[in-house]
Amino acid sequence: MYEINKEKLVRTFVELVEIPSPSWHEKKVMDYIIRRFKKLGASCTTHKCGESHNLLIKISGDSRRTPILFSGHMDTVIPCDNVKAVVTDTKISSDGTTVLGSDDKAAIAIFIEAIEYIKEHKVPHGNIEILLTCAEELGLKGIKGFDLALLKSKFGFVFDSSGDIGRIIVKAPYHSNMKIKIKGKASHAGMAPEKGVNAIRVLSEIITLIPNGRIDEETTLNVGIISGGRATNIVAEEAACDLEVRSINEKKMLAEEKKVIEIIKKTTAKYGAKAVIERSLEYNGFIIDENDPVALLTSEAMKKIKLKPVFVAMGGGSDTNIINSSKIRAINLSCGMQKIHSTEEFIMIKDLISGTKLAVSLIETVK
Ligand SMILES: [Zn+2]
Repeated sequence: MYEINKEKLVRTFVELVEIPSPSWHEKKVMDYIIRRFKKLGASCTTHKCGESHNLLIKISGDSRRTPILFSGHMDTVIPCDNVKAVVTDTKISSDGTTVLGSDDKAAIAIFIEAIEYIKEHKVPHGNIEILLTCAEELGLKGIKGFDLALLKSKFGFVFDSSGDIGRIIVKAPYHSNMKIKIKGKASHAGMAPEKGVNAIRVLSEIITLIPNGRIDEETTLNVGIISGGRATNIVAEEAACDLEVRSINEKKMLAEEKKVIEIIKKTTAKYGAKAVIERSLEYNGFIIDENDPVALLTSEAMKKIKLKPVFVAMGGGSDTNIINSSKIRAINLSCGMQKIHSTEEFIMIKDLISGTKLAVSLIETVK
């Protein structure tokens, strides 16, 4: 079912990855994508966001059918200058000096080829929206700066997960950040240490007391940055650290934050230090039930092309988290990329083909 033109798909993919697009510098690749979609009669609008733009593509279809959204991101992690795609019969990788950029250009190649396919083969379809974001790799900055009210779709299919095609991310965590600053009291370290309060010492004790790493199967906590002190002969007046908490379960995330705050309060009180805590929500999590229409439709679309749906939870966030905060029900699908964010990144050509078939099958399945 669905005969995908392998050579054309690989060519599109290679052209995309060979255009450098680090975060906030997506213009060149965006121009390429617009050119390809305009040839197919799609409408393309760019939406300013930070130093770059998000791109919204609309393909009009039968308005009696349910409108659907595909989404991915245009930026890649670095090093991504001078990507030279090495193509064998089965696999595409970089030459080892850069990432490949299949994260997330596999998705873009899949969307271009899927839309070309449905036009060429007159596959019945409804209205299709394709949202391609900028600066996803910097913490979902593109989608956070996009007005989701512009989207008319009911279901969303984000193609931005690694691993074999068939994986469906139906759970992703809530994620919050905390910046903790401990204020002690400076004093000469040799002449009057007893007059000082060492902020590094206080913070160290806090860090050893708070939960760390995997808390339970759906919750994690990590201290990722630490700084403080000015010289060895000064009792450190300030010390700071940044940490993150993630959980599929919002209550659990909030409970861990509370524990951290209580430990900070107790420990600073014990030493006569002060603390300033800044807390921010990075993104909300989501849980899609396996019987939710978006999950059922995806399973059906996969079965049509002989793919086995595998429902999984993910430990990280993606644009899907933000899309799910709108009225659209969205899931994140694997687009076949492997060993992402490394110079060993690669994608199997069969997975690019399956991903394209999956996009076509989704278009046909959602009535
Ligand atoms: Zn990605």
